[in-house]
Amino acid sequence: MKIVCVGRNYLAHAKELHNPVPTSPVLFIKPETALLRAGDFYLPSFSKEIHHEIELVVRINRAGKSIAEDFAKNYYSEIALGIDFTARDLQEELKKQGLPWEKSKGFDNSAFVGNFLDKNAFENIQNLDFALQINQKTVQTGNTQDMIFAIDKIIADISQYFTLKVGDLIFTGTPSGVGAVQIGDVLEGFLEGQSNFKFSIR
Ligand code: ZN
Repeated sequence: MKIVCVGRNYLAHAKELHNPVPTSPVLFIKPETALLRAGDFYLPSFSKEIHHEIELVVRINRAGKSIAEDFAKNYYSEIALGIDFTARDLQEELKKQGLPWEKSKGFDNSAFVGNFLDKNAFENIQNLDFALQINQKTVQTGNTQDMIFAIDKIIADISQYFTLKVGDLIFTGTPSGVGAVQIGDVLEGFLEGQSNFKFSIR
């Protein structure tokens, strides 16, 4: 199982980190050990600035390589919300040096995933409101219609480079409003107004 993430997929987020707007999906991979399905998130010792990035997560349900965009919808049936935890201080340092991001993005438990829901429960998955609350205050809001690259396009692009397998997860990018989490924070994610996850930072 692998976790494929899309960077800079919402215009306002690309701008808030002073990144250029991509012309093709920016991809990176987190290893299986990054997955956090239940329980709280423990701040790692190597960073003083762990950021939250709330994202729509898609679960692949059949294997595929070089999937055509028109058929991509047949390769997933469940969606959830997740948090792409990012050691922003480390990432900025690595970016400055022109080095890969892996340490800042792929560390243990950096990919929190909430409860999976049948995509058919939603009329249009490219028009879903989602939000992150920290201590009951909304810090990030987004709508999947604002993705620069839509889910089917992302799957088509990823599968040109990486064969997708059953159980692989795709993090589809975060809207603006990323920021640091602190010990004691309670994070709750909402998809179309329904709570999808709730956990604490420790
Ligand atoms: Zn992200």
